[in-house]
Amino acid sequence: MHCPFCRHADSRVIDSRTSDDGLSIRRRRQCPQCGGRFSTIETASLNVIKRSGVTEPFSREKVMSGVRKACQGRPVTEGDLALLAQEVEEAVRQTGTSQIDTNEIGLAILEPLRTLDEIAYLRFASVYQAFDTLDDFEAAIGQLRADHAAAAAAATDEV
Ligand SMILES: [Zn+2]
Repeated sequence: MHCPFCRHADSRVIDSRTSDDGLSIRRRRQCPQCGGRFSTIETASLNVIKRSGVTEPFSREKVMSGVRKACQGRPVTEGDLALLAQEVEEAVRQTGTSQIDTNEIGLAILEPLRTLDEIAYLRFASVYQAFDTLDDFEAAIGQLRADHAAAAAAATDEV
């Protein structure tokens, strides 16, 4: 990689560190010609295949903007959205794939969004899973209620 200061064609790695989430490596480099130091971040490439067939790099920002609409008026902060986007990226990367389609991203969003805010989850699921009728909402709400009951029962068991 070229030195950003003098354009020298080579650089030396003086330190490598894996990020806390294990998804990237940060390298400190030094130019042997001018002595300038700079960092590079290395991540496995992850591409999204859009419905149109166009491929683009995975973007946490795009995940956040998709979910942000569903969270309007809900007590969800930008920090919550950033964390959710991070969880989605980790979940997708853990599958070991380098290419996913937008549908799979939608699926990966559903679970953490449900934990974050159930109303936003219902809104997002209704668009993403194309709920057609009230029955679809009823089924999704029924599932949430059943899970609440199961969680409550489990909590009672523990006492
Ligand atoms: Zn240089």
